[in-house]
Amino acid sequence: MKKKAVVLVSGGLDSATTLAIARAESFDCYALSFDYGQQHKIELDAAQRVTQLLGVVEHKTVLIGLGGIGGSALTDDHIPVPKFGGEGIPVTYVPARNTLFLAFALGWAEVLGAEDIFIGVNAVDYSGYPDCRPEFIQAFERLARLATKAGSEGVQFKVQTPLIHRTKAEIIQQGLTLGVNYALTISCYNADDKGRACGYCDSCHIRKEGFELAGVSDPTCYVTRSMTQK
Ligand code: ZN
Repeated sequence: MKKKAVVLVSGGLDSATTLAIARAESFDCYALSFDYGQQHKIELDAAQRVTQLLGVVEHKTVLIGLGGIGGSALTDDHIPVPKFGGEGIPVTYVPARNTLFLAFALGWAEVLGAEDIFIGVNAVDYSGYPDCRPEFIQAFERLARLATKAGSEGVQFKVQTPLIHRTKAEIIQQGLTLGVNYALTISCYNADDKGRACGYCDSCHIRKEGFELAGVSDPTCYVTRSMTQK
């Protein structure tokens, strides 16, 4: 029998690649997305497309109202998304987001009898978010084993982070070999309602540079090119 894994899928490039890796490692994948009050809700359509392309047993989208807490350019429309990340941790950081996402993934894993949770965090080409660091992931694994009934009965939950030490270019190259169609994914924090990327936010910069360094053409549809490219 194949092992089950819960895979966090945002609709972006990293999580699509992570799902492809989990599939290639022969896991039965249960995809989990969040409608968390993000301004760029269009990414949830991308999550749907990605899970359909790569194949999952089930895809759930859970509603969590992080807009009620605010404190991030991604969940509060009074805080603009900056053109560059800037110094330190940028305002696109969402307070405790990955802690909350992993907590839901852990709960579902326990229900499914899965030991593995996949998350596409990256600590190389990233925006400096503290909840993408290896130390955080290790701490969460420890929490998972302490916090759950399954953990107290000996289940060794693992938070798998196959991308954590890779560059964006390496991630793209691996995803392409595994059949990821990056045209389906959306990374932009400011994508319009057609899913077109702004081309200037931190996430767009990181993605664009990744395609350049990978030496492959960037399939992203940008607003600024919308006159010539649909
Ligand atoms: Zn953007």
